[in-house]
Amino acid sequence: MGKKNTFVKEITNMDEDIARWYTDVIIKTDLVDYSPVKGFMVIKPYGFAIWENIQRYLDDRLKACGHKNVYFPLLIPENLLNKEKEHVEGFAPEVAWVTHGGNKRLEERLCIRPTSETIICTMYAKWLNSYRDLPYLYNQWCSVVRWEKETRPFLRTSEFLWQEGHTLHETDEEAMDETLLILGHYIDLVENLLAIPVIHGVKSERERFAGAKATYTIEAMMHDGKALQAGTSHHLGQNFTKAFDIKFLDRDGEQKHPHHTSWGVSTRLIGALIMTHGDNRGLVLPPMVAPTQAVIIPIQTQNEEVMKAADKLYSELKTKGVRIELDDSDNYTPGWKFNQYEMKGYPIRIEIGPKDIEKNQVVVARRDTGEKLVFDINEFPEKVDDLLKEIQQNIFNKAKALRESKTYIAKDFEEFKVQMKEKQGFYKGMWCGEECCEEKIKDAMATTIRCIPDEQEHLYDECLVCKKKAKHMVYFAKSY
Ligand SMILES: [Zn+2]
Repeated sequence: MGKKNTFVKEITNMDEDIARWYTDVIIKTDLVDYSPVKGFMVIKPYGFAIWENIQRYLDDRLKACGHKNVYFPLLIPENLLNKEKEHVEGFAPEVAWVTHGGNKRLEERLCIRPTSETIICTMYAKWLNSYRDLPYLYNQWCSVVRWEKETRPFLRTSEFLWQEGHTLHETDEEAMDETLLILGHYIDLVENLLAIPVIHGVKSERERFAGAKATYTIEAMMHDGKALQAGTSHHLGQNFTKAFDIKFLDRDGEQKHPHHTSWGVSTRLIGALIMTHGDNRGLVLPPMVAPTQAVIIPIQTQNEEVMKAADKLYSELKTKGVRIELDDSDNYTPGWKFNQYEMKGYPIRIEIGPKDIEKNQVVVARRDTGEKLVFDINEFPEKVDDLLKEIQQNIFNKAKALRESKTYIAKDFEEFKVQMKEKQGFYKGMWCGEECCEEKIKDAMATTIRCIPDEQEHLYDECLVCKKKAKHMVYFAKSY
């Protein structure tokens, strides 16, 4: 066997052990590393470049519709966390505390933010006066800490990077519009930038954010059929604004509590990207989010003609705005390089050798299909955009086809238990809306309602658990 095969063997087959496959991929592609602090990850340059592309895409869109970035403190005094009852109950089990400043015990302990509603609301109460000040449309890029028992880089870590938006509005309706506007931005981000199809809808009461009136979610299916919550947008109503006594003088001269939203996406999205598109050769990155979209590999780096052509093509593609690399290092064979970039998920690999120069061509390998295409070397810069778009679309289509192939209907509770054991995936089912039925499914098979989707279907009349009249169609799944 040649170098090629032994190289790929370093990655565990995903169908045999997807957890090990995932670990192999994130470490060998240099996205991330484990740190001396258990449950905390180090994001390396390749992983961080993906995060920066996600940030840039979303940040531009949030700013375009009036949001501004801010920064609030990392630490929150305990009394603030305790102000909203449901909120503190929801987060208490996973909060990390600062108890000392230097050698001195603090009079009041401070928590490391698990999310920032409480401290932001405290400041909003201080700032807000009149309806003329509204809406407040603020967003913060930061990290938060939630002490997790079991962690896996990107998917679940005790510290993760995210953005958290916190807005205030005059009316309930405006807050609802904002909640849905952001949900729309999240759908756009995940489907168009990351090429991951999502189901969107509202969470059941049991699954909603601690202290929210309604939580909207986007749910993605990972390669193994499990769900991953990819982003949430919460309508918080007046729960926090009352608890924190945020008031404004309204148009009618009355003092009122504003209506409140919060929303976030995090570095979990990188986990979703890996788990949705990756294959047995490693990462597969959609061109729009890939830090490098194409790499040129000259065959025979000592050949002047080859290097001249490679340099020229590099400049032309760079001018076109393609994120491009030229690997003319002598350390490794072209075959080793092919494998390396394939594993790292570069969408396009361009080979130029002496034979190609003779024919005035380049050989282009697509990561998503493995196909090798031949282009006229002078025409390729004009065609690269279309090719990248086609790859982006194909990666999305593949993920959607996989989701469809693993989406089933659950009709009966007992039958559902057996089905889920045999075939993991998304299960559509009818539900009466009662928490006890939801609870029963969770206890029996560690499966939750992912959402009540916006696109409802009438599958049958009765709740699949209690057989009373059903209210909604929901998606059930096991989740990350
Ligand atoms: Zn029921």
